[in-house]
Amino acid sequence: ESYLSRLSLTEPHLHSFLHISDTLLRDAQLIDRKIETGEDVGPLAGVFVGVKDNICTDDMPSTGGSRILENYKAPYDATAVRRVKEKHGILIGKTNLDEFGMGSTTEASSFQVTANPWDLSRVPGGSSGGSAAAVSARQCMVSLGSDTGGSVRQPASFCGVVGLKPTYGRVSRFGLMAYASSLDVIGCFGTSVADTGILLHAISGHDRFDATSSNREVPDFTSQFSSINLMESKPLKGLKVGLIRETLEDGVDNGVKSAISGAASHLEELGCTVTEVSLPSFSLGLPAYYILASSESSSNLSRYDGVRYGNQIFAESLNSLHGDSRSKGFGPEVQMRILMGTYALSAGYYDAYYKRAQQVRTLVRKSFKEALDDNDILISPVAPSAAYKIGEKKNDPLAMYAGDIMTVNVNLAGVPALVLPCGFVEGGPAGLPVGLQMIGAAFDEVKLLKIGHIFE
Ligand code: GLN
Repeated sequence: ESYLSRLSLTEPHLHSFLHISDTLLRDAQLIDRKIETGEDVGPLAGVFVGVKDNICTDDMPSTGGSRILENYKAPYDATAVRRVKEKHGILIGKTNLDEFGMGSTTEASSFQVTANPWDLSRVPGGSSGGSAAAVSARQCMVSLGSDTGGSVRQPASFCGVVGLKPTYGRVSRFGLMAYASSLDVIGCFGTSVADTGILLHAISGHDRFDATSSNREVPDFTSQFSSINLMESKPLKGLKVGLIRETLEDGVDNGVKSAISGAASHLEELGCTVTEVSLPSFSLGLPAYYILASSESSSNLSRYDGVRYGNQIFAESLNSLHGDSRSKGFGPEVQMRILMGTYALSAGYYDAYYKRAQQVRTLVRKSFKEALDDNDILISPVAPSAAYKIGEKKNDPLAMYAGDIMTVNVNLAGVPALVLPCGFVEGGPAGLPVGLQMIGAAFDEVKLLKIGHIFE
């Protein structure tokens, strides 16, 4: 009941949710009863979970933020959602996003714009802006998002919450609407590193419905937390941290730079050695990402043909049925991505764009591997600035894409990254949060979470 009243107080200002569960009270009472009668309950019993609307749920609509799927209800739960339910988490609703995850502000949602709880005139980031805003405004305890090029981490930074992008393959993508399949991962938001780790643990692990999900054993990400002595003077003694030089160059706000250098000093106080590292292919990651992500999306989104899913526009011929359904169903950003991707993949251009982007991807993977062989983690800002005004970059796609420079390389490399609040810059009524990105080696979420927990 307290969550429902919190929602009615905050939702008219924030618009974080596209749909709120009709069965919330009943679901919560059911779990309550289980607890009262001494039944075994899972680790998420009584935890209210928001779910990004590109993750399928069988009991609520799943629109992906797109008109083409308006009112669409999936016939099954995504594996991550099924696991949340099996562990007795309670789904509170479906959160707003940029259409199919394409964007950095949630302004590209077909339905509504979500506001940043720290300053309602600013964007919450994107594409998982609804999930980040909902946790930030305590509309739910934790939430699920998806991260193809930064969509969990950047909104976590803009909204002052913890966001975790797991290693590619750690969490099943079954039931996540595909944007760019080789980069997409489901990730988690929470108000603390511990909560975020508990949610990740609940949803991780192999799934026979996703051929790219990993067979690796899933460690209990937070079990070591209770044995960490936070009073110890140098709990991170001996750890090597690499500060990525290329992420602190021109174009990054001074306030962000000083929050990051403050975070680096804090890590040193905790016992780490922090040195600058250079990733020479870093700046190539952004153009490579946009070519690869657009190319994969142009192929993935061909399933929305007006026949198999969602909205259909009646037409005289089959061709115009497909064409009209897609022209009216997809928003402008999605149409642009499909055009860019189709162009990059077309005969004669493939070698110049797609193939070269794949070559860059190999370089990026290699440079991360080398840097992470020498360092326990790498750190960087999450975005060049804190949250900006709604509308500020809406009509300048290149400026919007440029804001993803700090996050996309991590997806190209497939490695995990944790974002947590590390300071504030001036702006809004109460300052604006800035996040620190910690990047780890593939499948080493345990180390990231441990360092994050001690850091916060
Ligand atoms: N902003 C990036 C894009 O538009 C990343 C989105 C994401 O991670 N889903 O592609």
